[in-house]
Amino acid sequence: MTTSQTILITGANRGIGLEYVRQYAQAGYTVYATVRDVARADELQSLAARHAQVQLLSLDVADIAAIRALSTQLSEVTIDILISNAGIYPPSRLGTTDPQEWLHAFQVNTLTTYYLAEAFLTHLQRAAQGKVIAMTSKMGSIADNGSGGEYIYRSTKTALNMVVKSLALDLQPFNIAVALLHPGWVRTDMGGPNGLINTETSVAGLRKVIDGLSLAQSGEFIAYDGKPVPW
Ligand code: NDP
Repeated sequence: MTTSQTILITGANRGIGLEYVRQYAQAGYTVYATVRDVARADELQSLAARHAQVQLLSLDVADIAAIRALSTQLSEVTIDILISNAGIYPPSRLGTTDPQEWLHAFQVNTLTTYYLAEAFLTHLQRAAQGKVIAMTSKMGSIADNGSGGEYIYRSTKTALNMVVKSLALDLQPFNIAVALLHPGWVRTDMGGPNGLINTETSVAGLRKVIDGLSLAQSGEFIAYDGKPVPW
């Protein structure tokens, strides 16, 4: 299958991000794969060597000036799908929650999606149906929190959910659909070895949800299997 569609993704060197690149490249998309450290992204580099339409770009998502510079670098490009995927999970329990780590996690997990959407608005508007995808987590669901703890990760994802809900409303007039996607509990460095699914299954499901995403669904919180996640 080939397509002329283009995606831009953050945190593309490992885990779910790398699998997104693999599957979208396989499906013929042009992929702008951004990573914090291009020199260390071995697997992504070998993927790019096999797929001419995969381009590696350097981006630390905590650097808002760098997000804006990348938008300028790609000023002529149409982006159909923007996937804000990079994320961190600093462990935190009552009594061991570091305030600097907490603030940094807000920067990476919460602010990034907003600044990416803002910086790439023009690129997304050129698409027949622009889509902004935020990789969130069920751990950010207030309704689902039955075990407490994990103050940093939970709060940064809950805040992300609210940011993305506002983005969905604000981007509607620009014909850009926005979604909050939960990938399942996935076996990655973050998810650990006990995760319930592998990256292939997660991303195959996520791609199906992204494919079917319309403006009518914009702002919804959806799992990789298409099921709604409670807020
Ligand atoms: P991994 O820990 O395996 O990968 C995280 C990715 O984010 C890496 O590519 C990492 O790059 C990148 N990253 C972290 N900080 C930055 C930064 N400042 N700038 C650029 N890139 C950065 O995570 P997963 O693949 O498992 O998770 C992907 C997304 O899915 C995350 O948003 C996560 O919260 C979410 N998620 C994951 C779940 C799971 O079970 N795995 C469950 C629910 C949600 P580097 O190698 O440079 O550190």
